[in-house]
Amino acid sequence: MRGMDHAHSSVADNLTQALERIAQAASRAGRRAEEITLIAVSKTFPAHLIREAHAAGARHFGESRIQEWEGKLPQVADLDAVWHLVGHLQSNKAARAASLFHAVDSLDSLELARRLERARAALEPQPAARLRVLIEVRLDAAPAKSGVREEDVDALAEGVLALPHLELRGLMGVPPPLGDAPGPRPAFRRLRELRDALAQSTGAPLPVLSMGMSHDFEIAIEEGSTEVRIGTAIFGDRNAKNP
Ligand SMILES: *Cc1c(COP(=O)(O)O)cnc(C)c1O
Repeated sequence: MRGMDHAHSSVADNLTQALERIAQAASRAGRRAEEITLIAVSKTFPAHLIREAHAAGARHFGESRIQEWEGKLPQVADLDAVWHLVGHLQSNKAARAASLFHAVDSLDSLELARRLERARAALEPQPAARLRVLIEVRLDAAPAKSGVREEDVDALAEGVLALPHLELRGLMGVPPPLGDAPGPRPAFRRLRELRDALAQSTGAPLPVLSMGMSHDFEIAIEEGSTEVRIGTAIFGDRNAKNP
């Protein structure tokens, strides 16, 4: 990852490089770069770097923690951008999430969906725009991992599609950790198959396939990703910045 070994390379340069790599991966796969949305994952990084990325053209941002985002949002609320929650959301924070984000990309239970629905229905002014959601599918067999099991995706999707203040847009997934043979490709392919099957069975369009992070987004694009969630390659190493 080129952005990582230059501690002082700017967010704008890193963003440009990431967009170039997206375009190249798309071209290799016979796809158009415009089919792929870059989500700049700004968790742990200060609001001024969000402004920097926005000035350089980023329009989608991903955050993981409700409390952190409550502190940062007021500093960037004037920006024209789409704010995504990409990390796991606990049910008891659903109401806060429903007012802080345009999109929840990590939906993993009907209980959570119902709480988001109620909170969105109560937002002022009404009618509020629908909250965009993705169902997070567990692509790693480890039971402790987040996301719903494959066999539970259909039932959850049917439940979500019945909620008028939520807009089910597709699926999201994080493959097993790097190093596990045979790499992330089969998991990405599986997620795409699940999305295609779900679109077929529900009749909902489900255009979004959110897969691919800094270390594997090119493979994800080759496998059909429409949203890549890139943190490290744009903002730098999250662990190294506070020595
Ligand atoms: C942190 C995070 C990312 C970004 O990961 P990088 O490896 O830094 O690109 C993407 N998706 C989710 C769900 C995350 O939590």
